[in-house]
Amino acid sequence: MTRKLVLGALAAAAVLALTAGAASAADGSPCGAQVRQSWSPEPVQQCPLTAPLSNGWVPVYAQPVGHAAGAPVPGPAGWLHGTSGQYFVCQQQFGGAEYVHPRGWRNNWWARTKSDDGVWGWTPEVFFSGGNNDEADAGLRACGSGGQEPSGPVGGGLPPVGGGSSGPVDAYRYDYAHGCTTGPSAGAKALLAWLKKNYQGSSDGIYNCRKVRGSTKSFSLHAEGRAVDYHENAGTRAGKALGDKIVRTLLASDRAGNANALARRMGVQEIIWNRHIWTADHAKQGMQPYDGVDPHTSHVHIGLNWPGARMQTSFWRG
Ligand SMILES: [Zn+2]
Repeated sequence: MTRKLVLGALAAAAVLALTAGAASAADGSPCGAQVRQSWSPEPVQQCPLTAPLSNGWVPVYAQPVGHAAGAPVPGPAGWLHGTSGQYFVCQQQFGGAEYVHPRGWRNNWWARTKSDDGVWGWTPEVFFSGGNNDEADAGLRACGSGGQEPSGPVGGGLPPVGGGSSGPVDAYRYDYAHGCTTGPSAGAKALLAWLKKNYQGSSDGIYNCRKVRGSTKSFSLHAEGRAVDYHENAGTRAGKALGDKIVRTLLASDRAGNANALARRMGVQEIIWNRHIWTADHAKQGMQPYDGVDPHTSHVHIGLNWPGARMQTSFWRG
């Protein structure tokens, strides 16, 4: 929990928060109502976060772990890439695991969630907005109440997400398509499963023996079963946010500073979304304007190089 000074211009907002009648007078920004998300077997609640670590992300630990003031921050099992739109399952107090935020706030309440890397774990509530030290969030459900006991990892059964996040990051590589194979590649199927597990959306297909739309010569990566079209609607706020989040996650730098870490580990060589494109052979340029025949406003197109399609890159090897 963070102590926040409410100053001048924020006074009006503070009054609103108080009249909203939070369960705890100190927590002006409790978690929201329980909703369903495809990645969680239990309902989840959106919780406003604040003050991420220096990489801009919020850590998720496999188990609650104490952190003393001034000590190095323990390495987490996964990350939440940003402080907005993050969901949690429940909260629990761990008296032996008080976590001191680098900026001094402390809390021994922890909230259960799944990281953007797909790892189930716990986030210390020092990253929750509002409230006081060692105080529970005023709105988040207690673990073990009204749901299955959330101890131990839930979910699973998918590629070793996170397990493939150690060791050297794979080199950039782009493999053009030269013809048609006979069906979807193993890597594309695994990528689709990973997307479904982590982001609300649906498949718009993998394998399709065709040329690039608008071209008579170049084969599409779909012709070699190396691209996933993941349905998101850029015309809606929620759809655009999800598509943007997928792209951000794939192209983010990891803690060691490796650019586009997840994309490289998965063997992603091409991303097209909402009139923009990223390719591994122009990686440093980031997402660039895309003027192809299909503007890709109905799906995120994610293409794999051959090592990725064969699940030989570090993410899939685990
Ligand atoms: Zn596509």
